[in-house]
Order: sequence, then C-alpha cells, then structure tokens
Amino acid sequence: MGDPSPRRKIAILGGGVGAMTAAFELTSVPDWQSKYEITVYQMGWRLGGKGASGRNRARHDRIEEHGLHLWFGYYENAFNIIQRCYAELGRLPGEPLATWRDAFKPHSLFILMQFHEAKWTEWRLSPPTNTQTPGDGVVPPFWEIIDKLLSLLHVHYENEATPAVRALVNTPEHHDHPGFLAGLVAHVRDWLSDKAVEAAGLLTARKLVQDVAAAPNNPAAHAALADAVTGLEHFAGAVRKAVEASIGGLIDDLAGDFPFLARLVSLIELGLAMLRGIIADDVARKGFDQLDHLDLREWLASHGAGQLALDSDTLRAAYESIFAYSQGSYELPNLAAGTGLRGLLRLSLTYKGAFAWKMQAGMGDTIFAPFYQVLKQRGVKFEFFKAVRDIVPSSDGSRIEKLVIGHQATVINGEYNPLYNVNGLPCWPSTPDFSQLKEKDKLEAGKINLESHWTPWADVGQTTLVADVDFHEIVLGISLGGLPHVAPKLIDQKPDWQAMIKNVEAIQTQAFQIWTKPDAAHMRTPRHGTHDNPDAEPPVFGGFAQPHNTIADMSHLLPRESWPPSTGPRAVYYFCGPLSQPAVMPPRTEAEFPRIQSIKASARASEWLRSNAQFVLPGSMFAGYPESFPDTFNFSLLYDSEGPQVPAVDQFDRQFWRANSDPTELYVLSTKGSTKFRLRAAASGYSNLKLAGDWTYTGLNYGCVEAATMSGMEAARAICGSPTIIFGENFPLP
Ligand SMILES: Cc1cc2nc3c(=O)[nH]c(=O)nc-3n(C[C@H](O)[C@H](O)[C@H](O)COP(=O)(O)OP(=O)(O)OC[C@H]3O[C@@H](n4cnc5c(N)ncnc54)[C@H](O)[C@@H]3O)c2cc1C
Repeated sequence: MGDPSPRRKIAILGGGVGAMTAAFELTSVPDWQSKYEITVYQMGWRLGGKGASGRNRARHDRIEEHGLHLWFGYYENAFNIIQRCYAELGRLPGEPLATWRDAFKPHSLFILMQFHEAKWTEWRLSPPTNTQTPGDGVVPPFWEIIDKLLSLLHVHYENEATPAVRALVNTPEHHDHPGFLAGLVAHVRDWLSDKAVEAAGLLTARKLVQDVAAAPNNPAAHAALADAVTGLEHFAGAVRKAVEASIGGLIDDLAGDFPFLARLVSLIELGLAMLRGIIADDVARKGFDQLDHLDLREWLASHGAGQLALDSDTLRAAYESIFAYSQGSYELPNLAAGTGLRGLLRLSLTYKGAFAWKMQAGMGDTIFAPFYQVLKQRGVKFEFFKAVRDIVPSSDGSRIEKLVIGHQATVINGEYNPLYNVNGLPCWPSTPDFSQLKEKDKLEAGKINLESHWTPWADVGQTTLVADVDFHEIVLGISLGGLPHVAPKLIDQKPDWQAMIKNVEAIQTQAFQIWTKPDAAHMRTPRHGTHDNPDAEPPVFGGFAQPHNTIADMSHLLPRESWPPSTGPRAVYYFCGPLSQPAVMPPRTEAEFPRIQSIKASARASEWLRSNAQFVLPGSMFAGYPESFPDTFNFSLLYDSEGPQVPAVDQFDRQFWRANSDPTELYVLSTKGSTKFRLRAAASGYSNLKLAGDWTYTGLNYGCVEAATMSGMEAARAICGSPTIIFGENFPLP
C-alpha cells in the first residue's frame, strides 16, 4: 500500500560531494519541503567520502586528510554552490571561515620537478591571477580559450627564448618556408607594431583564431586557421633548430642540461600539437569525447608532438595531478585524450581569480561541515552509521524495489551530533564520538573503523526500505569502487552497469602529512622563500619522485589546529600519490588487510622522506650530510605530538599517513576508451534511481570536485528539474 503523504521521499545514499550537491540543489527549489522529504544515509560518522577529513582529538585536533585537495579556479559549479552554502550559513563577521572568501585563498605558486641524469631541476610556475570570481557561471567560448592558448605560448616564447635563440629564429632562413612564416610576418608586421617579429607566427595564429571565433561557421576562417597551423609548425621547427644550434647538440639528448630550453621547445610543441589536433579533429564542433579512444600522449603524438614534449615534466605532472595511472602503476600512464585535453584547457585557460584555491581548514571543515549545517537547517534528515548493504531491483529491471540498510551502531539519543568545535570552527572528528553510541566500549576496545570494508564488526541491526513507502526516489552517491559491494544485483541485471564496472577503473591512492619543529623557512631552500621573506607563497610541488609526487606546504593550517602556542609545530607538509593495486583485492573477511596496508604506507612514506625530501625540503637534511650520516632526512625535526616523554617506536610514528584502499575510496580514472561506459546521472536504467558522483558521465568525466558537483546537479535536475543550467556541461558548445 502506498504512503498517503503527498511528499515524495528521497533517499540519498552517501555523503560525498556528489550526494551533498544533489541534496543542496533539491532543497534549493522554492517550497521544497512541501514536495520532498529527504534523508541522507551515511556509513560511519562523517560526510565527505574521498574529501572527508577528521580532527585527531588525541593529537591537538590536527587535520587528517585523505590526501591533498586543491580547488581549481575553473570549478564554476563547485564554487557557485559553496558560495551559496556559505551565504546561507550566516556566520558572524570575525568567526572562523565566516565567508567563502575566508574559507578559500588563492594559490598560484607551483613548482614542477624534472628528473634527468640523477638530478632534479625545478620549474617555478606562477600563473597570473585575475580579477574574476570563480563560480560566476561564465565559461569562456571555445575559440576565446584557444586564443588564450596561443597568447600563453607567445608569452612563454617572449619570456623564455634566449637572445641566441631569438637571433637564430629570426634569421631569414626561417622566414623562407614556402608560404607561411615569411608571409605571416609580412602580413602582420604592421599589425604587430612594436611586438617581436620572430613570434609573429603565434600572433598571427591568434588573429586567425579570433576570426574563427567571430565567425565560427565560416569555412574560409577555418581554412586560414589550418594554414596558420602549418606555419606555426615551421615556427616550432625553427625554435627547435635554433635551440639545438645554440647548445651544439640535439635537444632531446640534452634536456637535462638545458631544462629551460627543453621546456621552451616542449611547451611550444605541446601547444601546437593541441592546436593542430583541435583543428584537424574539428573539436569545436564534434567535441572532446570523440578523442577518448586514445591516450592523451598518443593523440598529441599523432598531431606532431615530439618525444621531448611527450616526456615533458609538464605533461607528466598533468597525468600525476589526476593519478592517471592504470592499476596505480607508473608503468601504465593512461588518460583519455579528449577528457585530458578538455581538463587541461579548462584548468589552465579558464580559471578565475587564481589558478588554484587552497582551503583554509580541513576539507571536511571547509566543505562538508557547512553543507551539513545548512542542509540540516533546511530540514534534511541525516542518518549516520547507516551503511547501504544491498540495492534490490525489481525482477523486470524497471525500478528499485528495496534498499537494505545496515545499522553499524546505535545512537543513544536517536540523533547523532557529528561535529565538535575546534577554536570556534565546527569540525569532524577523525573517529566517531563514541560517547553518543551504545556500543561505545566494544567499538573502542576493538579499535573498530566503521568506514572500513574489512572491518570484523557486524551490523547491530538492519532496516529494509521499500519503494513507494519509504522512498520514491534514490540518489546513489556511493563511489564506483563501492558499487560491486552495494549494488551487485544491478550489475548482474543490466549489461550497461556491467560494462561500466568492467571499463571504468578506480585505483588506490596514498598520502602522508608531517608536522615539523622548525618553520618552513628552515625547511625549504632560499629558492622557495627566505628568512628575509618568510611570507613568500608556499609552493605546491608537482611531478616529483614517485609515489608521493605531489607535495604542499600547508603551514597556513596550523592556527586551525590546537597546538601549544609557543612549543607547537611550526610547519606542516602534505604528500600524495597513487598506490599500485594488488592483482586481487582480498575478500571482506580479511580484517588484517587495512592494518597491513597502513604499515606498508608508513614504511613507504618514511623511506620516501629518506630518499627524496632533500630535494624539496633541503632544510630537513642532517647538517654534515653525506659524510657523517647514513640518512639524508633528519627525523628528529619531526614534531612529536605526544611529547618526548612517550618514546616513539619509529621517528615517523607520530605523523599521519594512510592508504586509500577501501573500495569506496578508490580514485576514479579516465582511461582511454572508458568514457562511453560511464552511466549518466539521469539514466541509471531504473526509473527511481539517479546517480551522483565523479564516476558518472558529466561535462568533465574525471575524478575531481567539479565533476562530482556537476553530477550531483544532474541528479537533482533529473528529479526536480532544477538547476536548469550546469556551467560548462556542454563545453565546447555554449
Ligand atoms: C587522495 C585524493 C586527492 C584528491 N585531490 C583532489 C583535488 O586536489 N582536487 C579535486 O577537485 N579533487 C580531488 N580528488 C577527487 C575528489 O576527492 C573526488 O572527485 C570527490 O571527492 C568525489 O566525490 P563523490 O561524491 O563522487 O564520491 P565520494 O567522495 O567517494 O563519496 C561517496 C560517499 O558514499 C559514502 N558511502 C560509501 N559506501 C557507503 C555505504 N555502503 N553506505 C552509505 N554510504 C556509503 C562515503 O562514505 C561517501 O560519503 C582527490 C581524491 C583523492 C582520493
């Protein structure tokens, strides 16, 4: 018998970015409470999923993350939602993270590391800031973005080409190519006025791109652009030849000795290969997905990128930034070309305010606590410790009939209060508040992790929710890796679910954080800021030694933790990277697996510090190295959060590390050939099931906060028709 209530009941499964966005959009509809009754079922004690963080109450409320999280300046939808969320949160001026502007600060300093012949070199990148506000909903038109690409190449050439290279590129021999460069130079000489003639090819191509932008359907403009590309190839060839002449050898062989010249050539080649490919494959009209059967490097190579460009630190860092390694193995880089290209263009050419934005507390505190507070205030019901155990479809496969929900623990007062206050900021603890749970003693004594797939803990109860009675719609926000465990019947029943599970890959990642006694100025080289200039923006390093190839100085977070004022740590660093997959993940009964993973993660992290920290944190080395000490990393610089009176078993022991091995924590990849297998939020194949998460088909299709946000918006739209606009959903189309 149906429920007589006119309100439709919506069950949201999971509390990651996708699920919370869906809840936020559904409850942004005017008068939503007369239409819907919304309940979030979340396993364990906190929202956030892969973006969850926790405060370690036993260690001065330090922030513990799944890994380094940055928001990028092109996250139009994510910033838009979080701005609306903060506006409604209504914190008073002066309160911690009172506004979104307090919660996010622009970040522009990136250092790309390049290893060649036993030597690391650095490339500082500081993408210029702009006055735009992320989240204003404007995604620039495609050709405007391409114009910007050329403009950047031009600026890069202007900044990086040495006088010797310039002189050589500008010799008449390089203007003699049949047709193009000389013609272009002549054609634009007036137009260029005071600009460098040798870069005329780039500038002319920009002009032609602008013509296409003004008349995208004019074949003549496209033909002129194609000619421009041919000319630019001559230009790139001339740059390469000139560089090689100036260093007296082949640049491919000498990249390690002349990294800046290698970058000059490789970036120009990469940019041109992109441009050539975009025009040849008519990306403006046919879109990016058509390229996804190829790996990005394969596609670039097919459009003329040379080995130097394909092996460049820039491209490697792009892969690493989204863990684009099949099975988590560095031997298997794999990134669908269209998805990678779209991501790179959006990331580098459409950002607003700054290239990246750093959260000013843990991601849980900055994103998921405000989501929780606003949604709760709006009237959404949260059921913590409620783990989805089975999603049961009807036998004809038309809809979901039942949801089986496991009760992981009994909340004493009926409703769990998940947040606690750290220096005035509502935060998630890194373990449940056991005092609110009836099974407190057993959970604590058994050191039970209620987020773990491999927990020996059995549910203390179970509820079966029935369609039309307990729910009318479901938003499935559980991540891809978790689906074989919560939705095996859907995978059995529908070939497109099987195809998705088989073809869309998700891998483990790993991360660690260290708190140091000395400050950042002591730990880093003068190149990254000096004692005289301690306020220089702390860098984010990319492309560094595997597996922890991404490193960030996150010392700005220390004041958000509760360290003793004068004797606390003075700096904190985050390290993150992929983790290779065991051939077979052990069954749920292997309760020891997480512990073993954790031990291995700790060993890898401390070994990584020994071997590599010297290159990014030179101040962490023993004075006198290498003569007197076997180790390079001085572990005694690490801050011991329990104090020296409790001896650490290992000097790394009191830091934080984790292996993100749990099925639902796996990072979703965008490997070549996989895009077409992603299901869409509104097309699960079941009438009452919508999907939300970075694994669905969106306008981005890769694992990031923005894609998860877009998916949540799509799920909400499929239920209530709102939001009508999802920014960038159809890019490159408007
Ligand atoms: C180490 C790392 C670093 C990253 N860095 C960045 C970055 O810098 N920038 C960026 O934009 N993105 C980054 N990402 C990606 C980003 O975190 C994800 O794209 C995003 O958080 C995914 O959100 P989601 O909603 O799709 O899923 P998830 O975050 O996976 O959420 C799934 C939800 O379902 C819940 N759940 C799972 N199983 C059950 C169950 N049985 N019952 C009930 N609930 C359940 C989970 O607890 C969680 O709440 C990173 C990811 C990782 C792993």
